[in-house]
Amino acid sequence: MNQDFKNQLSEVISIFPDLSIKHIEGQDFLKGILDIADESSTVIGSFSVEIYPTEKFPYRFPKIFEVGGDIPCNADWHKYNDNSCCISVEQDEILKCQSGITLINFIEKEAIPYFANQLYRIKTGHYLNEYPHGKEGVRLFYIELFKSSNPKFWYFCFDHAFGNSKTGRNKRCYCNSGGKYKKCHMLVEEKLQIIGKQKVLTDLNLITS
Ligand SMILES: [Zn+2]
Repeated sequence: MNQDFKNQLSEVISIFPDLSIKHIEGQDFLKGILDIADESSTVIGSFSVEIYPTEKFPYRFPKIFEVGGDIPCNADWHKYNDNSCCISVEQDEILKCQSGITLINFIEKEAIPYFANQLYRIKTGHYLNEYPHGKEGVRLFYIELFKSSNPKFWYFCFDHAFGNSKTGRNKRCYCNSGGKYKKCHMLVEEKLQIIGKQKVLTDLNLITS
């Protein structure tokens, strides 16, 4: 049993009264309805969900399942065969959970936007916020993170992050943006370090192959 997860459950149901705490085989989880509202707080759709702890929660997302059958079970719909939802690429998940994510934050900032996007696709045939998955999703994640689509620059930044070469905090950044290093790619390098040298390297090799 994940104690962090368990400790947050009563607070979650006080904010989301349509969710309730269930118990199966020594495992507490959340089950119920998540409402999706528009800007004027009018409910425009609802999804039947179950939320389970993962081993690494709160340093990874919990697992959320859409169990009402409203979303097709395939990768194109960002939903796996077991009904679990593909909320984001793993690298993005690691950064978002770097200080530990709360269940309420996960539901409000990750799950509800995911379902709002799904609702939009169900109604219109396409996503409001189109986002790729798999290798292309990872590639776009790194383009955004590095602020560059140039693989040579990615490896340069990687070497700078994990190697011995140092740039003074107040010096101009090596990316030629004109900004100070500490406000530019130093922040990018810190994110690379959170994701981890080996994982970043594996990812870079994957997306440049
Ligand atoms: Zn820079």
